[in-house]
Amino acid sequence: MPEKIIIDTDPGVDDIMAMFFALQSPELEVLGLTTVFGGGLKADTALNAIRVVETAGRPDIPVVAGADRPLLLPRRREMGWPGHGEDRLGNMGDHLPQPKGRPIAKRAAEFIIEMVMAHPGEVTLVPIGPFTNIALALRLEPRLVQNVKQVVVMGGSAYRGGNASAVAEANIFNDPHAAKIVFEAGWPMVMAGLDVTWDYFALPALFEEIAALKTPVSDFISAIYPCYRDAQALPGGAIGIPDLHAVAYVVDPGLYRVRRMPVIVEAEGPLRGITAVDQRPFGPETPAVDVILGVDGPRIEALFKERIGKYR
Ligand code: CA
Repeated sequence: MPEKIIIDTDPGVDDIMAMFFALQSPELEVLGLTTVFGGGLKADTALNAIRVVETAGRPDIPVVAGADRPLLLPRRREMGWPGHGEDRLGNMGDHLPQPKGRPIAKRAAEFIIEMVMAHPGEVTLVPIGPFTNIALALRLEPRLVQNVKQVVVMGGSAYRGGNASAVAEANIFNDPHAAKIVFEAGWPMVMAGLDVTWDYFALPALFEEIAALKTPVSDFISAIYPCYRDAQALPGGAIGIPDLHAVAYVVDPGLYRVRRMPVIVEAEGPLRGITAVDQRPFGPETPAVDVILGVDGPRIEALFKERIGKYR
């Protein structure tokens, strides 16, 4: 039986790669895409997600819009990282197929609650944007804790410092109060943060192979990739693909090295958004999380390439 998942997303270049990967993974049944605000004020993340399902040939998959700002913090333009572009499509939105469908008439938190409670113990939540929708759902329906299968997040950093600030990873930084709620919930949780992001680098050769496929999906990836690559500005044009790992962990956890530790989130002050791991061997009160520390690089790359190659 494929794993039922809901991807909560702020597409976003790496979100889009992760979703195309998910939509060709037979190990997964994608129940829906819920969307949350992204950085930049111009992007419509729900319409971006609709472009993904339509390009993937899966317009049947519901896209559900969610929070347009963090729980407490104001929405600010500087939340956007230039690598996604102002439209979060690598500034290529005008050159890509326009969305035809609309989000369904429901809010993300409602959809998450309905799906989880309809399939108790079966649904994995995969938040790959700020965790605002997940926190709202949890506050509306506390029984999610016992009824979700697991929550696999892209966010946080155990040993790699921050990217949005010196200490904070962007998904946590952009709604630290939501992140604190999610990390402290006590549900089965996996953290795919900067530790795994910076353990696998995709080189331009991979994207040359993808471009050569000449399918609608490979054209889409090829359009949005350069902005992302150039903003990461790593040697050799390498990129990390953070959001891919949260989805790929659900497909094959065996690709990943994991250590179980409590994760403490600081929501306020100069260390806002830090995810401190508690490495002490004795029992702290914060629930433990499976923290992903590394990935088998050649295997994740081969799997990504294989799945993108399945599109026609
Ligand atoms: Ca994202």
